[in-house]
Amino acid sequence: MIRNTEQFQHNTYDLLVIGGGINGASIAHLAACRGMKVALVEKGDFASGTSSKSTKLIHGGIRYLENLEFDLVYESLRERSIQLQTAPHLVKPLEFVIPVYQGDRRPLWMMRLGVFLYDRLAGKYRIQRHKKLSVQEVCNLEPGINPQGLKGGVMYYDAQMDDARLCLENVLSAAEYGAHVANYVEVLSFIKENGRAVGVKAHDLLGDESFEIRARKIICAAGPWTNELLRIDHPYAKKKVRTTKGIHIVYKGKITQHALLITSKSDKRIFFVIPWMGNSLIGTTDTNYIGDPDDVRVEPADVDYLIAEAKRIFPGLDFGPDKIVATFAGLRPLTRKGGSPTKVSRKHLFHKSVSGIVFVVGGKYTTYRKIAEDCLDKIAKAAYRPPFRLYGGGTIRENPHVVAEHYGLEVPVIRELMEKYGTRYQDVLKLVESDPHGHEKLSEDPPVMMAQVVYSVKVEMARTVQDVVERRLGLCYCPAVPEKCFKTIDEYIQRISEE
Ligand SMILES: Cc1cc2nc3c(=O)[nH]c(=O)nc-3n(C[C@H](O)[C@H](O)[C@H](O)COP(=O)(O)OP(=O)(O)OC[C@H]3O[C@@H](n4cnc5c(N)ncnc54)[C@H](O)[C@@H]3O)c2cc1C
Repeated sequence: MIRNTEQFQHNTYDLLVIGGGINGASIAHLAACRGMKVALVEKGDFASGTSSKSTKLIHGGIRYLENLEFDLVYESLRERSIQLQTAPHLVKPLEFVIPVYQGDRRPLWMMRLGVFLYDRLAGKYRIQRHKKLSVQEVCNLEPGINPQGLKGGVMYYDAQMDDARLCLENVLSAAEYGAHVANYVEVLSFIKENGRAVGVKAHDLLGDESFEIRARKIICAAGPWTNELLRIDHPYAKKKVRTTKGIHIVYKGKITQHALLITSKSDKRIFFVIPWMGNSLIGTTDTNYIGDPDDVRVEPADVDYLIAEAKRIFPGLDFGPDKIVATFAGLRPLTRKGGSPTKVSRKHLFHKSVSGIVFVVGGKYTTYRKIAEDCLDKIAKAAYRPPFRLYGGGTIRENPHVVAEHYGLEVPVIRELMEKYGTRYQDVLKLVESDPHGHEKLSEDPPVMMAQVVYSVKVEMARTVQDVVERRLGLCYCPAVPEKCFKTIDEYIQRISEE
């Protein structure tokens, strides 16, 4: 897919979407499916904002039961089921264990009631029935767990996703339906006629040129940057988004066999330890953030908090510097209703400004499809609602052994391609055959071929090394990837950008 910013200047669009996080990407996707002429611009890389910094769960959100948000939980569980069906390569069921300790804010009976209600709310969307666990069963399931004060536990089911790729696949789907999409294009101001917004002035950060994009409707899905765009629209606009920061630690190796939901001792919040890409994801925090969204970063205090809480449950854990593979921070773009960060609802709403721009506020990743649908219904009721499909979605019918033999590759390589690209894995294999360097192996664990780097750039619009290693292939979270792999990617990107 060629990144072509010139196309924006020769069209008047039905809809311009600002922001290429999950909400902007899915709005563009659904709108293009509905036959609208759509443009989508993103000032960084797609999913470079909050949408690659999440806990990577497609979940009902068991903790929202505590806030009595049954409608939100039900809606999320229904969306979970849709995502499991439409993107089986990126969204997978995950077993959770909740260990309960003496003195925990939520005692065992409450956790048992919680998972019971969760399953009842899920109804036909349930993945599997929850189970009650004795102390011994918890210890057997998670041998490293601290048995002192353990009262028992429960097991329940949710889903895990690849957030950056799920967002990217929505962008690619939008483009496939004819939307014009570009990363590294920043909206600087709105063009107004008789007080109505009819377009934007945008800047291509790679080509260093400015241009106008004209559209009949504008939706702003700028996540944590929403207040900034509200002020660009009107200098005295009231803030609509409240941001709270959440960080994660990627710990080297698997700490647990299952995902664990744990109540912290210091502030009674819930956090997770989750197996992820052969490592463990520990997070998250939830603290008020009032600075510039571009400056959000992990502070030592955030890391100390998570380490202290994880060590309480897994006393044998070594947190030496070589054990922390990566840390990352993101901002939740929440509505301004509610009190403490954890109590603020994760429901979404829309704000229409005087100039007619619709701003998306709040929501969770899990409900992105519903947010897109509600948002589009707000600007134009659809006569036709096409079924929701994703770029690499659908069922893979081929046997990986047969494919591996056909291409002369190892089975784990084919499995990895099927997991990442879904039904589009064959597009990558075509590059293995047609590109002179396509078959070159850059890493064994995980298996990475040069064809994937070429695909990231030529089809998936990666423009920088970070785009490839962080959001297309996730290599920065894999400690076994050799330095030479990163160097080759760097050289390839430089060569391509000079061509
Ligand atoms: C720590 C953490 C953990 C989370 N975990 C989960 C979870 O497990 N499950 C779940 O369901 N939800 C989770 N969430 C919530 C979820 O990640 C967010 O609701 C969702 O990603 C928000 O997406 P978005 O598209 O609104 O924002 P973003 O992904 O931030 O996208 C907004 C985009 O707008 C772009 N932009 C801004 N200004 C401009 C401009 N002027 N011109 C062009 N582009 C612009 C930005 O660069 C950005 O990419 C979590 C959130 C956090 C912070």
